[in-house]
Amino acid sequence: MRKPFIAGNWKMNLLCESSVDLAQRLTSLLAGDSSVQVALCPPAVYLQQVATALQGSSIELGAQNMSPEKEGAFTGEVSGSMLKDVGCHCVILGHSERRQFFGETDASVNAKTKAALSYGLTPIVCVGEMLEQREAGTTAKVIDAQVRGSLNGLTPEHAGQIVIAYEPVWAIGTGKTASPAQAEEVHAQIRKLLAELFGASVSESIRIQYGGSVKPDNAAELMGQPNIDGALVGGAALKADSFAAIVAAAR
Ligand code: PEP
Repeated sequence: MRKPFIAGNWKMNLLCESSVDLAQRLTSLLAGDSSVQVALCPPAVYLQQVATALQGSSIELGAQNMSPEKEGAFTGEVSGSMLKDVGCHCVILGHSERRQFFGETDASVNAKTKAALSYGLTPIVCVGEMLEQREAGTTAKVIDAQVRGSLNGLTPEHAGQIVIAYEPVWAIGTGKTASPAQAEEVHAQIRKLLAELFGASVSESIRIQYGGSVKPDNAAELMGQPNIDGALVGGAALKADSFAAIVAAAR
């Protein structure tokens, strides 16, 4: 039985006060619930303040990106050891916005995934097809290549520590959600591929989140699918009530 995992990707939103306020509201709204794993991923500059706001709660801290490098002359970058030092448990890697606007590739996501694992951070590895690819009928091929490329060279033991987020790019921030059947079809494909790559028992243990306009009113049906183990939430993670309602739907 895989424990549902809901992560909130705040992207480049909120300032210090509103970040701390949102984290504090969520600690009280979600107090005492250990049936769902929950993580908040604020902008890097506010990780420390959000970490402080989350102290004593079961909500985990996550980052939105990290460098594959250990340390040194990499202006503007944040390392895995820094994320660990500030209290992060997980890090989102290869989000479609990073692939689209910052040139990330499966190879760079692969290097970051290995680096994150070496620091004991849980990588949330994002994959997803663009609208043109879905319309051209190449979704399965695109997802296959992204999963293979992003996880290339991982041992089964390391693969067992990752989380995958299937996020169809056409559903991110657009209000269009994949139907539960469309999402489940891709999740099942990913699970089958993970079994081929890492073995059946590792594959069965890996959480696969769905992301793309998840809202309180569609969350339960999506997460009711056999291979959907939680959600990576963007817009609806910026309001305490809607994020808490999505967590409630995962129970
Ligand atoms: C995301 O950016 O990961 C995401 C799923 O965003 P939204 O929920 O706003 O579509």
